[in-house]
Amino acid sequence: MLFERVAVIGVGLIGGSFSLAIKEQKLCRHVVGAGRSAANLKIALGRGVIDAVAPDAAAAVRKADLVLVAAPVAQFEKIFLAIGPHLAPDCLVMDAGSTKRDVVAAARRGLGNRLARFVPAHPIAGAEHSGAAAANPGLFRDRRVVLTPLKQNRKRDVDAIAALWSSIGARVSRMTPAAHDKVFAAVSHLPHLLAYALVDDVSRRRNAAQLFGYAAGGFRDFTRIASSHPEMWRDICVANSDQLLKEVVRFSLALERLKKLLKKKDAAALERLFANARAARERWLNGKYG
Ligand code: NAD
Repeated sequence: MLFERVAVIGVGLIGGSFSLAIKEQKLCRHVVGAGRSAANLKIALGRGVIDAVAPDAAAAVRKADLVLVAAPVAQFEKIFLAIGPHLAPDCLVMDAGSTKRDVVAAARRGLGNRLARFVPAHPIAGAEHSGAAAANPGLFRDRRVVLTPLKQNRKRDVDAIAALWSSIGARVSRMTPAAHDKVFAAVSHLPHLLAYALVDDVSRRRNAAQLFGYAAGGFRDFTRIASSHPEMWRDICVANSDQLLKEVVRFSLALERLKKLLKKKDAAALERLFANARAARERWLNGKYG
């Protein structure tokens, strides 16, 4: 597999890492980037993340045979509308967005007769860092990538995108957009919301300086993801608000149950809950869930 010209729209952590990874594996000849921040594109060019900067997304995709859209998800519709008329007929398009129902809807509105060549993808790899400076070619190694193919997609296009992610070390699986958004509301979007909420709450207390002064490993581990990009997480939470709300309600009930155990000082029940959580986490860390 060799792409002649790859266009990356949004050369941040994910777009930049993808570009570095396909360059490392010699899967492309030339990567052109487009974005919103000239300073970030300069860093991308300087680090060799991309080979050239295009003045805008439309110019980037002209003559491209592969396009990756890796901007925050609320930008997608605008980007699809801008690139749609300039895509070559055989150009494959994919994204890296963390939500899928909204991205598919944006593609339907924006890509017009090029929709069938769009294969939605979500790499389950990332970090709390952002921008081209954080891009790293090993980001997707041994990480999952979820494809949520459209019924309009040709099998060979979906297979080509799956093979591309596999070639840079990812483990590819497939889901519907709705199933995807449900799963990631529980195991990604809710944890991010909780981490942001905890740090925000502590920061607004009168004795915040004292609290942060004594916060240590537990606080650091629990809140690492509150250092993630606010715009990106704003867009994800808004795009997946219905599923995320369900998770918030469910988690509120879990907190209510904990409140009751604490009021009763029910040591045995607390220990059972903690032991169950620890065992489940061990199974997860040991790869028992695939
Ligand atoms: P990032 O902030 O590092 O990069 C996003 C880039 O998009 C920035 O360089 C920004 O300037 C650019 N951008 C913003 N608006 C744009 C526009 N209208 N046109 C072109 N470029 C624009 O963010 P990231 O972590 O690389 O995330 C990119 C996408 O990948 C998001 O959709 C996010 O949901 C998804 N994602 C992120 C992670 C993660 O953990 N960081 C993991 C999986 C998927």
